[in-house]
Amino acid sequence: MSHRVMNFFPGPATLPLAALERAREELLDFDGTGMSIMEHSHRGAAYEGVHREALSLLRELIGIGDDHHVLLLQGGARQQFAMLPYNLLPDGATADYVLTGNWSLQARSEAEKLGANARVAASTEAEGFVRVPTQDELDLDPSAAYLHITSNNTLYGTQWATYPDTGDVPLLADMTSDLLSRPLDVSRFAAFYAGAQKNVGPSGVTVVVIRKDLVEKARTDRPAVWRYQSFVDKDSLWNTPPTFAIYMLRNTLAALKEWGGAEGLEKRNREKAELLYGFLDEHGEFFRSPVEKASRSTMNAVFRLPSEDLEKRFVAEAAEKDMVGLKGHRKVGGIRVSMYNAVERAWIERLLEFMSDFKGKHG
Ligand code: PMP
Repeated sequence: MSHRVMNFFPGPATLPLAALERAREELLDFDGTGMSIMEHSHRGAAYEGVHREALSLLRELIGIGDDHHVLLLQGGARQQFAMLPYNLLPDGATADYVLTGNWSLQARSEAEKLGANARVAASTEAEGFVRVPTQDELDLDPSAAYLHITSNNTLYGTQWATYPDTGDVPLLADMTSDLLSRPLDVSRFAAFYAGAQKNVGPSGVTVVVIRKDLVEKARTDRPAVWRYQSFVDKDSLWNTPPTFAIYMLRNTLAALKEWGGAEGLEKRNREKAELLYGFLDEHGEFFRSPVEKASRSTMNAVFRLPSEDLEKRFVAEAAEKDMVGLKGHRKVGGIRVSMYNAVERAWIERLLEFMSDFKGKHG
């Protein structure tokens, strides 16, 4: 048995063991074909089977119906910061952005570079991004081409508990750090997207879900590689896709289905988060969570210790006990526990024992 650590990295992140074991099993000889899936043509039956299965598992597990396309692209979530406005905004159009962390700041800035009037519909920057805004704080422009939010703020540990009501304005969301972590009412969204590398697979593939009418109305004056339509027309097999990443996406989704799909994952994720936040609340004088309770993320929990020196020791001592990836993002500092789909409840229990001991020693 290989040595496996308790991986709390923010992404790329831990994957279900079953997904990795299946890859090991199939690596040299995929399905009796005498070669690995990454040596197969993307135009052949073996790969096409995997590709279609990944797409249909996404539809099934997220609950995506006929109104939306599901695309598998490259370029990460950041590419979508640019690709969405590049396709969806006519010249001189206005788009609304809700600023809840560095990722939404970057999404807005990319739209501005394309000449869009990217309005700020709300921002919690002045408070250090410790919460997401409430509905009544949103200053919505009814003529905006869309409103963009970040559903989970990976660095700041905040998450939208309920999504904003935007009326007739299409709602777009960066779901990179919470896709498929809970059930979703897909009909609320004109589009959402996620780099796969946190909750649904490895890096290298980006899941984009976009309403069909948005693609139909999108700009036609963009180069083919930047148009959603190119990928829609060929079921994301327009050019060579990242075949091995999509294969791992397939393996991961199959494992997540075994865990009960969106409902099962929500239960699992909520239990882990409740354990951790319960502990933080109980020991708030030592482990200080800056995040407003109503905005707490079930995916990334951030907290501070009494000093930066203790935070360094915390990360180092945890690593000695096989708990890795706990250092907060350099912009924010402190500790961050990422608890995506594949993080086990038992790891959180082990982490809390460690935190208790650490406080006993240093508190
Ligand atoms: N958005 C969010 C919410 C993220 O957490 C990240 C990565 N941490 C990104 C965007 C950037 O994703 P990528 O590296 O896939 O471009």
